Amino acid sequence: MLARKTMGAAACAPSKYLIVITGPSGCGKSTLLNKLFESYPERFGFSVSHTTRSPRQGEQDGVHYHFSQRSKMQQLIEDGAFLEHAEFGSNLYGTSKLAVTNVCDKGQICILDIELQGVLQVKKVGVEMSPVFVYIKPPSFSTLEQRLRDRNTENKDSLEKRLSQAKKDMEYIAQHPDLFNYTIVNDNLDTAYSELQTALKPFVESN
Ligand code: 5GP
Repeated sequence: MLARKTMGAAACAPSKYLIVITGPSGCGKSTLLNKLFESYPERFGFSVSHTTRSPRQGEQDGVHYHFSQRSKMQQLIEDGAFLEHAEFGSNLYGTSKLAVTNVCDKGQICILDIELQGVLQVKKVGVEMSPVFVYIKPPSFSTLEQRLRDRNTENKDSLEKRLSQAKKDMEYIAQHPDLFNYTIVNDNLDTAYSELQTALKPFVESN
């Protein structure tokens, strides 16, 4: 349980909500989130995850991820520093409790962009803020595959791992639709963004 009392003195009242966004690699989560952060720079804050994968072009340490050595990250996991963590495509990813605290202490609504194992862990451990789970769904597996190939960020091995994981996760979610408060099909970016804004509006207004 990530309790508010672990958070330092807040400039504003800590947020009541934690927004957890998931969706297979290539579904367009980052693009949608970037639009959200541009539109509401004060209201939402991004939880900067740790990962053992190498930075992509343009990614900055401490902004997009805390790029970490596996041994260091494993030690932090053993020390209980993470709210959740998962192995994805041969790399470790995890949300440190500090990453969430840093956002909440600014009085912002914290947004997690995590894969499915992480979502299941957040559900299991519980958080004091009310978590809101959003699934960004690709229109079809073949569209996802094409987008991921066009993105050209992965080598052959990583691409295959991501596609195989995406297939498994999409099947699991199809069988467990109640996992999510909102499902947004990202077929058209503007439509999907408008649906995301509508879904999150009540939380912004009542926070
Ligand atoms: P990428 O390598 O493309 O940045 O991310 C791969 C996957 O890892 C994405 O589905 C992303 O949502 C997920 N991810 C990023 N950070 C975390 C994290 O802290 N925890 C978990 N469980 N997944 C994460």
